[in-house]
Amino acid sequence: MRKKIIAGNWKMNKTPKEAADFCRMMKEKAGSETAEVVFCVPFVDLHPVLEELKGTGIGVGAQNLHFEDSGAYTGEVSAPMLKEMGVDYVILGHSERRQYFGETDESVNRKVKKALESGLIPILCCGETLEQREAGITIEWVRIQMKCGLAGVSAEDMKKVVIAYEPIWAIGTGKTATAQQAQEVCHAIREVLAELFGMEVAEEVRIQYGGSVNGKNAAELFAMADIDGGLVGGASLKEEFSDIVHFKK
Ligand code: PEP
Repeated sequence: MRKKIIAGNWKMNKTPKEAADFCRMMKEKAGSETAEVVFCVPFVDLHPVLEELKGTGIGVGAQNLHFEDSGAYTGEVSAPMLKEMGVDYVILGHSERRQYFGETDESVNRKVKKALESGLIPILCCGETLEQREAGITIEWVRIQMKCGLAGVSAEDMKKVVIAYEPIWAIGTGKTATAQQAQEVCHAIREVLAELFGMEVAEEVRIQYGGSVNGKNAAELFAMADIDGGLVGGASLKEEFSDIVHFKK
């Protein structure tokens, strides 16, 4: 039985003080016995968030890393730096990073491998544009993203990876995929994982849905057979996040 994982992606929101205040307010409300809960926050918020969430069971994640351990990469942050701080998760290949910061399947793949090598759990994002959905190539597209993003990952490491299926047309738009649409793609992702890593591994991997998840639609989405939780943007910045964590089946 896969444990659900519900992660908030704060994106570029909340100053360190706002982050600490929010975590103080949320730490009781967002804790869960049944689901793994993670706050993925801007680099500068990691320290206050780690301090506030200490001992709560809520995990802390970053939203990016560099694929080298150190070196002349001005402005970048490495996996060992994050690990030493106490960070456990990292979002990789988010569509906003692919769109605005030139991330490619190849750079994402290098980051996934570096995260795993450093003991961080990657939350690897994939998903199609509206044009790709309308052209009927959603499944092919997502299969390619999985094959490229996970190239060279061992079956043992793959069990730790979390996949986030996030249709780009549903991110920050208020347009959620229907539970059936989301399930269809998450199932196809599990199938490609089975082809790449074997059925046993594919059955263990958690696959999240992301794209305008809120307190009202979470239960229906998370009830689907291949959806093991959510990656939540906008609603993770508000008290509403606790309604998502405590979704009623
Ligand atoms: C996201 O950024 O990963 C996301 C899913 O955003 P939102 O929930 O705001 O659509």
